[in-house]
Amino acid sequence: MSSTNGYAALEAGKALEPFRFERRAIGPNDVHITISHCGICHSDIHQARDEWGGSIFPMVPGHEIVGTVLAIGTDVKSFHPGETVGVGCLVDSCQTCHSCQRGLEQYCQDGLVFTYNSRDKAGEPTYGGYSTHIVVDQRFVFHIPTSLTAAGAAPLLCAGITTYSPLKHWNVGHGHKLGVLGLGGLGHMAVQLGNALGAEVTVLSRSSSKQPDAARLGAKDFALVNGQASNASLAGRFDFIIDTVSAPHDYTSCLEMLKTDGTLILVGAPEQPTPLGAFPLVMRRRRMVGSLIGGIPETQEMLDFCAENRIESEVEIIPIQGVNEAYERIMRGDVRFRFVIDMSSLGRE
Ligand code: NAP
Ligand code: ZN
Repeated sequence: MSSTNGYAALEAGKALEPFRFERRAIGPNDVHITISHCGICHSDIHQARDEWGGSIFPMVPGHEIVGTVLAIGTDVKSFHPGETVGVGCLVDSCQTCHSCQRGLEQYCQDGLVFTYNSRDKAGEPTYGGYSTHIVVDQRFVFHIPTSLTAAGAAPLLCAGITTYSPLKHWNVGHGHKLGVLGLGGLGHMAVQLGNALGAEVTVLSRSSSKQPDAARLGAKDFALVNGQASNASLAGRFDFIIDTVSAPHDYTSCLEMLKTDGTLILVGAPEQPTPLGAFPLVMRRRRMVGSLIGGIPETQEMLDFCAENRIESEVEIIPIQGVNEAYERIMRGDVRFRFVIDMSSLGRE
């Protein structure tokens, strides 16, 4: 066991504060990591405020983790001390179900363990990356390509893979018009990845101030959407829309922006359900699908793709002491485009 410093929400909605806890002793398959950076995902806020229900407290959030290997277990061959590595949203799965065997660990039917707000196989709560160190089974650790910066790579472990996976699954690319709804952490990755895959990207945002950023990130077009009714000029425009919005909103207006056979991909996870009639789907044989992060092999593929295509997250680096203010700024939409915590700001003693 090793004593670790972190920041935790002690109860739902309470400000995060310093929290000391134990990490398990490293086993033969474990990698012990000194965390240098951790991104702040909107899912951290949903869970720390128990907006989805079932949260476990105290909660140390954080699933966009980059750090350096401190030590390895006796059976670890592919990582070495000093190497820069990453950990995303998952730290264990059953390894035997149909999903795990296809490299889709995120859909594991019997034994999925999330990096935090979850319970490991021994029934102990998992604690995430707002901390100085983490011990993770080697199967859930990634190699960070050397051309990526640690801070710019951290958000790839969730925002990057969550947008890459459905774009690849639905073969989004050349000849497709892709709408990206919401230009936040996930959205700014979707724009860069969609563009690199060859799609023509339009940002659909409620914030006109983000137009120059959208163009700089690679979007060909920008449209203001108010969430109630779609702009008539956008009707039937897109082959795909990836919806990254974190708050409840009207799906009908999103569907109406799709062509015949168009696909609305939901990755945003608002806490409240939204009513939806049949007609926007029925009339043009449109599809509405969902997607959860991505599997382990695909996450390494995404990191390598980002390195090859010079894609990183645009980040604002903060000390851990600024995490509560960062949460408030995210809720106000005041972030370009991901807060990343510099974990050296948290005492390592
Ligand atoms: P974020 O950085 O806060 O971005 C969300 C964006 O949605 C905002 O920048 C804003 O974009 C738009 N938005 C926010 N509130 C809105 C409202 N009331 N009405 C309309 N638009 C609004 O959040 P994120 O980290 O990208 O996460 C987005 C969502 O994805 C969250 O719900 C998160 O839990 C979920 N998520 C899902 C997965 C998965 O595996 N499916 C993984 C990670 C995160 P504009 O200002 O441009 O409109
Ligand atoms: Zn996330």
